[in-house]
Amino acid sequence: MEIITAVRGFKDVLPPETEKWRYIEETARDIFQTFGFREIRVPLLEKTTLFQRGIGESTDIVEKEMYTFVDRGDESLTLRPEATASVIRAYLEHALYNTETVTKLFTSGPMFRRERPQKGRYRQFHQIDAEILGPDDPHTDAELILMLMHFLKKLELPHLNLEINSLGCDQCRPPFRAAIHSFLRGQEEKLCSDCRRRLVTNPLRVFDCKVESCAAILSGAPLLQDFLCPPCREHFVKVQSSLDLFDLSYRLNPKMVRGLDYYTRTTFEVTQESHGAQNAVVGGGRYDHLVRDLGGPDISGIGFAIGFERLAAMTPKPKTDASDGPLLFIAILGDSAFDEAFRLCNTLRMKGVRVEMDHGGRSLKSQMKRADKLQSVYTLILGEREIAEKKALLRNMRASTQTEIHLDQIEETIIELER
Ligand code: AMP
Repeated sequence: MEIITAVRGFKDVLPPETEKWRYIEETARDIFQTFGFREIRVPLLEKTTLFQRGIGESTDIVEKEMYTFVDRGDESLTLRPEATASVIRAYLEHALYNTETVTKLFTSGPMFRRERPQKGRYRQFHQIDAEILGPDDPHTDAELILMLMHFLKKLELPHLNLEINSLGCDQCRPPFRAAIHSFLRGQEEKLCSDCRRRLVTNPLRVFDCKVESCAAILSGAPLLQDFLCPPCREHFVKVQSSLDLFDLSYRLNPKMVRGLDYYTRTTFEVTQESHGAQNAVVGGGRYDHLVRDLGGPDISGIGFAIGFERLAAMTPKPKTDASDGPLLFIAILGDSAFDEAFRLCNTLRMKGVRVEMDHGGRSLKSQMKRADKLQSVYTLILGEREIAEKKALLRNMRASTQTEIHLDQIEETIIELER
């Protein structure tokens, strides 16, 4: 009978990769908490309208990538393609804005987008997401970016590029929209069908096109940065001068527009040079109208999403001093020693010591082989004679030394070694 495989684009994360994931999550949690963030957990499934209204009808995500279905109660539901809309939904539903003026939240977990799977791009992928709701001050933008870069540095990721841009606001965009329309007048036919559609729905997004001929046409196009209104310009300058207080390099990229409609003003991306086509690790930005668009009060926000799979692929193996294996492997010689070994093994585990043993009466040689494979620090050989004499040999596998210990003292001795 054939085995059942995972769904295309959905991937298992196996050990030891899971250990790296846990290390990344713990590092994020530590650093984000230092910067005042608290964890929120939101459902994987939301009403479809949340994403239609939140992310924007004209985005690739909403147009063609969402896992949407009608459930048995005739309600249209969607597996979340990103976390920001859900976090804001929860922020509004629980009126968190009534209890605090600044809300800093982080979350992590799976997201779902029906994209074409390839290396670094999956249909279920994971993100670490951080959001600050409340202040619209440029220092907030700088602080969030600083925290992000500090986190990535802590993971010792090589060759990172931070790019920032400002997407302006409702004041700056209409004149820019007019300028880009007049620049492209007569050339619309040469653009790809996606870009022709974007010209109508959201002209900013033409800069996001990966088609070479579109990029060539757009190379001399007007840029939004030249249309920023004075408050947006001032905000962006202040973000940069606040970042300049720290030892942080970044590049201004006036063509970076991001794939979600809700962004206003500061946007940023982190890419890694050597990572081929799917080289964006983090995307984020300010969204000053999203809370209002989702039915809430006029509250600003800014956030980022880190792609977990891409981050894990770039993160060097965490350095740990301790061996990954157990502290002790108990090998048994003869079936009569099994019960004593089984009792000792599980008693020590309940006291917090990592101990392994074999079940199933394998030869001493194959038990020792397994102890080696697991990289156990110590092995204890228990046989009928050892139990009768109440003594056994504890072998240090690394130093290749052994000591005789009394069986009555074995628990304390091993617990002492653990310290
Ligand atoms: P976005 O939510 O589109 O701004 O994406 C933020 C980050 O999530 C990207 O920079 C990627 O690292 C990651 N990401 C987005 N889509 C995928 C995907 N389909 N597979 C893997 N990672 C993804």
